[in-house]
Amino acid sequence: MTSVAEKSDTIAYQQFIDGKWVDAASGETFSRISPYDGRVVATYPNSGVEDAQRAIETARRVFDEGQWANSRAKDRARILNKAAELIMANMDELATSIANEVGKPKNMAMGEVAGAAETFELFAAKALDLKGESITQQIPDAVGLTVHEPVGVVGLITPWNFPLLLISWKVGPAIAAGCTMVAKPSHYTPGSTLMLARILAEAGLPDGVFNVVTSETENGAVVGQHIAGSELVDKVAFTGSTASGKAVMRAAANNVKKISLELGGKSPNIVFPDAQIDAAVAGAFFGIYLNSGQVCQAGSRLLVANEVKDEFVTKLAGMGAALKMGDPLDPATTMGPVINETQLKKIENYLETGKKEAKLVTGGGRATDEGLSRGLFVQPTIFDGVSNSATIAREEIFGPVLSVLSFDDVEDVVRTANDTMYGLAAAVWTRDINVALKVAKGLRAGTVWVNAYHAAGLYNMPYGGYKQSGLGRELGDHGLSEYLETKAIQIKLQ
Ligand code: NAD
Repeated sequence: MTSVAEKSDTIAYQQFIDGKWVDAASGETFSRISPYDGRVVATYPNSGVEDAQRAIETARRVFDEGQWANSRAKDRARILNKAAELIMANMDELATSIANEVGKPKNMAMGEVAGAAETFELFAAKALDLKGESITQQIPDAVGLTVHEPVGVVGLITPWNFPLLLISWKVGPAIAAGCTMVAKPSHYTPGSTLMLARILAEAGLPDGVFNVVTSETENGAVVGQHIAGSELVDKVAFTGSTASGKAVMRAAANNVKKISLELGGKSPNIVFPDAQIDAAVAGAFFGIYLNSGQVCQAGSRLLVANEVKDEFVTKLAGMGAALKMGDPLDPATTMGPVINETQLKKIENYLETGKKEAKLVTGGGRATDEGLSRGLFVQPTIFDGVSNSATIAREEIFGPVLSVLSFDDVEDVVRTANDTMYGLAAAVWTRDINVALKVAKGLRAGTVWVNAYHAAGLYNMPYGGYKQSGLGRELGDHGLSEYLETKAIQIKLQ
């Protein structure tokens, strides 16, 4: 079974419903254009509500039949482990698809693929560890049990920036729990989700447990709304912008669906004067420029102690030369284009706003050097002297644009860092454990790194946002519990 038919170097995909590769009911298709050179890299079925409904009804039927929902944990764990193995075996194909569709360097896409495999391994272990509680001490003639059950049919709606990783964060726990799924990937990047469907089938996942529909831009929102509003769907797990997340939340109210939302951010990265400055500079650089700044948790607000700020900004600006923009498939490339024309224009508007609001240190426009002119490249940009009330300090730009602010003391910096509608992530750089923990505890954010950005090498930790950055958590036990219901069984002894 295969989802793809090679047409020169363009891949023609079908979508995956009830274990079969199918076209859209309308027969329509849409194309993904490479943000690097404008060529068509793939075509997809352009599905509407009719296709989504078929996928939802399939997932509902398969869940209600009960074999999958009541399957043995060891069988689900075996499928998850096998999927992890197959993801690694298909590393090149997956990473090439991600590099072509997102525009991110293939080397980085390979890291994403490895992260997806690790996620499946993690949830294989969690599946084997599912357990409830017994409550026996309260009265002598009764026993209470809690049992966890799969939440049911889950809608998975995902963005384009980490297309394989973010769907894996949902599919892993959903399989571990025994849920069935309808996935709707972003119209810019459906390739790796469809490849995952093929891999899961090969790993032994029964037909109809994981279904995927693909739709172009406007249909995407319509189909997303249909899934989020459907009475046949028990939960929706959404990752995307805060605006779309609010629309999902409103639709989900239709049947009081369970929801988890991973949304936007404007994350503060805080540097104290006693930090190891070179490590902090490297962390700030990675924090903002990874994936051309298109990361929900990007460290887009850099708050540096006044004492070291000028030295820090000079060093950071000097690192820009190390970035090599170019063909995502070239192993030498370290920064790719941004995702599409709309996003490029949005970033360019923020660059113009930033020039009025603050001091431009480096970058500030589109990158059109030799070899880049056909691509949607943006220069790595730094604005200094930014006020926290400036537009470029408040709004999520989702591009390689850093706003630098300064501070004098701990209370001051915690207040400024928290003065945002978002609360996804934050970092603090210091060698003083008291300062580190005081700031970490004071920050209203779902993740706080100390002397690291994006990760400190720990994977199995809950991930999610405070405030308008989201609802619920992914990964770890918290991530699994989002896909489980809890039932209390009370037994009267006779
Ligand atoms: P987006 O909100 O435009 O789209 C995300 C998904 O939602 C797509 O599949 C899209 O088709 C669908 N969608 C769009 N409108 C919808 C609607 N009204 N109802 C239902 N579904 C709808 O986001 P994007 O541009 O793909 O991704 C970038 C955004 O995602 C950024 O804001 C970023 O911060 C956020 N993000 C968050 C996390 C996180 O874990 N918190 C991770 C990655 C990206």
